[in-house]
Amino acid sequence: MNTRIYADNNATTALAPEVLQAVSLSLGELYGNPSSKHRVGDAARAAVTAARVAVAMLIGAQPAEIVFTSGATESNHLAITAALARTPARRHVVVSAVEHPSTLMLLDRLEQEGVRVSRIAVDAYGLPDLDQLRAVVTPQTALVSMMWVNNETGVILPVQAAATIAAAQGVPFHSDAVQAVGRLPLHVGDSGCDLLSFSGHKLHAPKGIGVLWVRKGFVLSSLLAGHQERNRRGGTENVPAIVGLGVAATLAAQRLDQDAVHIARVRDLLESALQGEAVSVNGGGVPRVANTSNLQFSAVEAGSLIERLDRQGICVSGGAACTARGTQASHVLRAMGQSEQQALSAVRFSFSRYSTAEEAQAIAMAVRELMQPGLARVV
Ligand code: PMP
Repeated sequence: MNTRIYADNNATTALAPEVLQAVSLSLGELYGNPSSKHRVGDAARAAVTAARVAVAMLIGAQPAEIVFTSGATESNHLAITAALARTPARRHVVVSAVEHPSTLMLLDRLEQEGVRVSRIAVDAYGLPDLDQLRAVVTPQTALVSMMWVNNETGVILPVQAAATIAAAQGVPFHSDAVQAVGRLPLHVGDSGCDLLSFSGHKLHAPKGIGVLWVRKGFVLSSLLAGHQERNRRGGTENVPAIVGLGVAATLAAQRLDQDAVHIARVRDLLESALQGEAVSVNGGGVPRVANTSNLQFSAVEAGSLIERLDRQGICVSGGAACTARGTQASHVLRAMGQSEQQALSAVRFSFSRYSTAEEAQAIAMAVRELMQPGLARVV
């Protein structure tokens, strides 16, 4: 494969070596079904319990509030459908316009089925209009959902303020915190959220494992019937992935501050090295997570630049990875007021604890070379 530099950590992350080891061991040894009442089952169940405790600790939750799912897409679906089922008379959901497609596409579908959806506009930084939120949320709203950190820009959304607005109307609040967990210190108890989604593969755990945190006392009807996860998510537990997530959560909790300082240094290096090339940093100037740099270029089409960088072994993205191969402009940048052409000239660089200053310098050098006059239009 010959990947020289991986700077697409908002799309997915490499397994931490400690996680890889734990998952490999579990695949071989923890083959029991956690529901089985014998020693092989007991071993698997004990491993799941330990992982649940580690995951809960990372976000300041109680272990019983953690529901393991197949990923954040499922967690978002579970949160939204459960909120609608909880109060069947309320057929209204409010979200920000910059949510992940796993939320927005589900809401498009629900809209066809008669659910009213309000999408809150954002400003040029990607911050939602809280006055508009205040105006549309009523006691007839089933759920307000707002992501904690935007996956394309790294901008931190005002989740607590939004949750307070929802609570004032007696409306539950959900946050898609995929890009926040493991990157920001997060304490769900104080967040004002009732439900919170995240995913293993954004924090150096495997794909196919996610979490929905459900505040104690919030009655959650399941998407998949079955007795597992206290009747909240049926299906035999993905033990190796859960074990991996447990290890990843412990690592993240231990290293959060130190990782953030290191990653911010790498990100800042890239941004200052590309100051002459990029027109602006999308979402720059408001609080952002340390790892994301969404740079706006004017002379090139992002897709070509990304392809050229890939040929040099440098992996980055334009907009969300889900649309990286398409030519569709990012809905996030469009919602931030950019033209189609502007939105198609943005490149997302996203780092991890394994990124280095040398890598940031090498990326900047490669971009600078590709942007040289004469080359820029050809790429
Ligand atoms: N929400 C956000 C903000 C994301 O970045 C992603 C992953 N791209 C998801 C949800 C979906 O997560 P998963 O891949 O675990 O389904």
